[in-house]
Amino acid sequence: MKMRSDVSPIVGRFAPSPSGRLHLGNLLSSLLAWLDVRSQGGVMLFRLEDLDPARSSPEYAGRMAEDLLWLGLDWDIGWRPGGTAFAQSHRTERYAAALKTLEAQGLVYDCRCSRAERLAASAPHPGEERPRGCTCRTHPKPDTGRPAAKKLYVPNETVHWTDGHFGDQTDVLCPGEDDFIIRRSDGVYAYQLAVSVDDMEMGVTRVVRAQDLISSTARQITLMRLLGGTPPSYCHCPLLVAPEGRKLSKRAGDLSMEAFRERFTPEALTGVLAKLAGLRETAAPVTAQELIADFSWKKVPAEPILVPNNLI
Ligand code: GLU
Repeated sequence: MKMRSDVSPIVGRFAPSPSGRLHLGNLLSSLLAWLDVRSQGGVMLFRLEDLDPARSSPEYAGRMAEDLLWLGLDWDIGWRPGGTAFAQSHRTERYAAALKTLEAQGLVYDCRCSRAERLAASAPHPGEERPRGCTCRTHPKPDTGRPAAKKLYVPNETVHWTDGHFGDQTDVLCPGEDDFIIRRSDGVYAYQLAVSVDDMEMGVTRVVRAQDLISSTARQITLMRLLGGTPPSYCHCPLLVAPEGRKLSKRAGDLSMEAFRERFTPEALTGVLAKLAGLRETAAPVTAQELIADFSWKKVPAEPILVPNNLI
């Protein structure tokens, strides 16, 4: 008989980028990530994705952590305000080691396309153009003394994986066209590399995040395999859409936690999120804890969730 201690717990994570206050979409995916882990008796981890110094602020990092706790979403291990552990900005050596491992296998080349560098700087979002037309793989540009970005030779591969919410996925990676930057020319490691190294090294077994990152998953699975790791299982949350069809995001300046905390108690806001996520029939106040018992992904819609006008 398997003893409880023999069963490895599920390890999930919050992985916010501290470039603004949490917005409604972040809150929904954070609540679902927490419920997914807590309903399976798992461990929750907090990783601060503050890789890009130009877009990260310690002020926002502290507020994000505090806002999650205010909502009743806690974690067992990870970053704490004022700390450096589990902060990507303090894990550069780990990313450097991963780059070395890939270089040793001949999987990395120099890219001197400045537009590609810019686009690879952050997690991609729908509508953001992918860098195309880079020929550095086959026709390296002359070294003018300016540091190059490091790009991965993507293997010719079809990646099959199963999303916990959206089902079976097949992504074809095309060598050349789908090669992606793993370190920018300014030395900042790219999101794809950092998140893959971190999920592997931090023992994350379950990634729950918004659907706008679903297209990154095949690249992360590929990187982890090339680095000798085992990818976690992935589960993406439906996107929220504003009535007129635009995406809610902190980039678009939609309502953030700052405004929500003035308008709602934690229970009232959780009630709103629970209704949006299909977990409750009404938006009656509820605690995150109370949602654990009958949490099921089956209740969560697969199509984008329309945010009612009175919320935005
Ligand atoms: N840090 C990313 C974001 O806030 C999330 C990365 C991930 O979940 O893989 O958009």
